[in-house]
Amino acid sequence: MGEKKEEGRNMRVILFPLPLEGHTNPMIHLAHILYSKGFSITIIHTTHLNNSLLHPSNHPIFTFRSIIPDEAETSGGGGVIELITSLNRRCVEAFRKCVAELVADGGKIGCVITDAHWHFTQDVANEFGIRRIVLRTANISAFLGLLALPALRPNYLLPSSETSLEDPVPDFLHLRFKDLPAMKDQNPHLIDQLLSSIFIQTKASSAIIFNSFNDLELDPLLKCRQLFNRIPIFPLGPFHKQLPLTPQPHSSLSWLNSKTPKSVLYVSFGTLAAVDPHEFLEIAWGLANSTHPFLWVVRPGMVSGFEWLEPLPDGFEEMVGERGLIVKWAPQREVLAHPAIGGFWTHSGWNSTIESLCEGVPMLCYPCFGDQKANARYVTHVWRIGVMLGDKLERGEIEKGILKLMAEKENGEIMKRIKDLKEKAESCIEEGGSTFKSLENLVNFIL
Ligand code: UDP
Repeated sequence: MGEKKEEGRNMRVILFPLPLEGHTNPMIHLAHILYSKGFSITIIHTTHLNNSLLHPSNHPIFTFRSIIPDEAETSGGGGVIELITSLNRRCVEAFRKCVAELVADGGKIGCVITDAHWHFTQDVANEFGIRRIVLRTANISAFLGLLALPALRPNYLLPSSETSLEDPVPDFLHLRFKDLPAMKDQNPHLIDQLLSSIFIQTKASSAIIFNSFNDLELDPLLKCRQLFNRIPIFPLGPFHKQLPLTPQPHSSLSWLNSKTPKSVLYVSFGTLAAVDPHEFLEIAWGLANSTHPFLWVVRPGMVSGFEWLEPLPDGFEEMVGERGLIVKWAPQREVLAHPAIGGFWTHSGWNSTIESLCEGVPMLCYPCFGDQKANARYVTHVWRIGVMLGDKLERGEIEKGILKLMAEKENGEIMKRIKDLKEKAESCIEEGGSTFKSLENLVNFIL
């Protein structure tokens, strides 16, 4: 292995993350994993990204190249789909120029690894004769569900009654129509175009990497291998467990130190999901009424139309007192690993889901958009390590959901199952485990 490491260090791997935190974090983790295997790492990033994680000073072992997308963003607003579609158009020239410079620098380039959403990069990689590997930062099941969406569209948009939305999606045993991304209110044509391009250019790529592991998604993995039968698939997750956790002091951690084991509910809806002021109040009262201690991340701007906590009723924080802590951001990996945490109310983003699973923390799921509904369905109905909250945020339902989840800490069935998955997540990265072997295969593939 030592020899291979030396050979690898001369070989450069270029990574290109999507400028959204939930996509950048796993790409950076992958970069560290590949560096540990001996590769030189160059990260190309768009200046669109306002993410300290990508600050070169945080990763002195990597080389960073920033690219500026063509023409200024004109729309100002627009959703994530519009943003990704527009970036795919506007980054072509800058990305091509950057790759040309890296090629001109000399040295061996093993491959370029790009987020699955950067579909335009396949043509650029072909142009330079470099292999492109796709990183899909979500899980395998949700990826398959998303790719199937354009073909399902006529069936999906037409049903208006609750019963048809409850129908299972053909060929997707565990997913119902309502678990597919709720995109009825967005531009279906744009979404289908994006998904079709992702599908075509993933098929044209040289390999796919997932932040998931065999024991978690064996059936979807087999299905994915059938669908992409020309190329190898490397389940390499859980990424974050293959890297050391650098402890960072934070008020939330010292507050957690004062709480009894498994007593605290951690609440976070990730980096993008938003709620309206009414929903925010329902969450606040649901938490207060549940009587459980809670650590609640309220991102500035998470409540539409407000800076931060303004919609909270006067005296709310005083009333809750020491039982609750509201913060703008929390070091989530450390929080979930803290012994005081007994449950996680999450929006079911894939990173949050796999981080929770790896710490054996059961989940209360309130999925908002994209792949989150499929993730939540798997958490509550396939792996059965969490509880689904109803479709509407209502204080009574929230309180019931919290009480049900927190009752689990007394060795409930959910706890037993998540403990089992946690052990599987730990063993797959050990020598001889499925992820360990998959990583060796990827290293050989790149070399
Ligand atoms: N995160 C964090 N602290 C916070 C909020 C989020 O560390 O206060 C991290 C979290 O650990 C996860 C990522 O941000 O790695 C969120 O990704 P996820 O896929 O769960 O959701 P997204 O933000 O993409 O919707």
